[in-house]
Amino acid sequence: MGVLILNEADVRTLLPMEECIEVMAEALAALERGDMNQPLRTVFRPPRASSLMGLMPAHRAGAAYGLKAICVFPANPARGLDAHQGAVLLFDGETGELRAAVNASAITEIRTAAVSGVATRLLARADARVLAVLGAGVQARSHLTAMAAVREFERVRIWSRTPEHARALAEEAGGEATSTAEEALADADVVCTTTTAPEPIVRREWLQPGAHVNAVGSSIPTTRELDTATIAAASLFVDRRESTLNESGDYLLAAAEGAIGPEHIRAELGELLTGNAQGRTSEHELTVFKSLGLAAEDLAAAEHLYGRARETGAGTEVEL
Ligand code: NDP
Repeated sequence: MGVLILNEADVRTLLPMEECIEVMAEALAALERGDMNQPLRTVFRPPRASSLMGLMPAHRAGAAYGLKAICVFPANPARGLDAHQGAVLLFDGETGELRAAVNASAITEIRTAAVSGVATRLLARADARVLAVLGAGVQARSHLTAMAAVREFERVRIWSRTPEHARALAEEAGGEATSTAEEALADADVVCTTTTAPEPIVRREWLQPGAHVNAVGSSIPTTRELDTATIAAASLFVDRRESTLNESGDYLLAAAEGAIGPEHIRAELGELLTGNAQGRTSEHELTVFKSLGLAAEDLAAAEHLYGRARETGAGTEVEL
């Protein structure tokens, strides 16, 4: 058996958002049960480089190893390229043979928003009708699709640093662009923050009671999108505690100000999915899902894609 190459188009065809939301729910529950395992990711930042490389390994017991090798080049969007470039490698769980190499830009784009879909389904009020998306890049676009899959929104507001970007995405999504983040949040029931902003773009007083926030944009300890007051006021849910305590600027910078400690994390999504913890407890509670992105999510996406490709004959097989 050769190595199956799945390109961007294959990923988009074989991993529709609704399907990916279910795949991510299964993966997060498997991680909680211990059926999947992963170390913290390794982030390699060469001196004087503005780019980085992330290495994200994971294992599913008896089934497979996965490794996402991803380069993040912040200048790429100005070149018309995704900032996230790389591959997810899938290895046979019995023999270690390489089974597949899959386009990581598309997996990252879809699986990240799908995980926010899982969080929103679990934590947002059932009657959520107004969605605010901060940012207008790759994740903003995929979050619009994921949010529409889990709640029936009547209004969509989009704010971005560059007003033309917000306007273009709002037009595409049938939403409205706002000139400030505060305006976008005014009566939002669900908020997705999807920017590379280094400093908070969300302030506690801009959020209405009972809102749910998916905080997606910051994946490193030194940047954050939410101010300390928001994190402190919220019931905080995460993809993984260990990752949050080591990698999340939204958490670590609020903790450094003395506002919160590890006990502030209410639960991992996997604990909610397996019934080991409770989610929202009142209509007025502010819930925040802090997303960092997990190797287990990439492995589960690659396994699913590999299975679907074998069923449909998609992809290109090569001998290594
Ligand atoms: P894009 O480059 O496509 O989009 C970046 C967005 O951030 C744009 O809307 C841009 O606004 C905005 N932005 C850039 N700088 C600032 C700033 N200083 N203040 C406010 N907004 C700013 O990136 P992606 O959509 O691919 O990724 C967005 C973020 O999500 C990244 O930080 C990435 O690391 C993170 N991410 C997290 C994942 C997870 O699993 N949690 C997975 C993948 C990505 P404009 O263009 O209007 O100027």
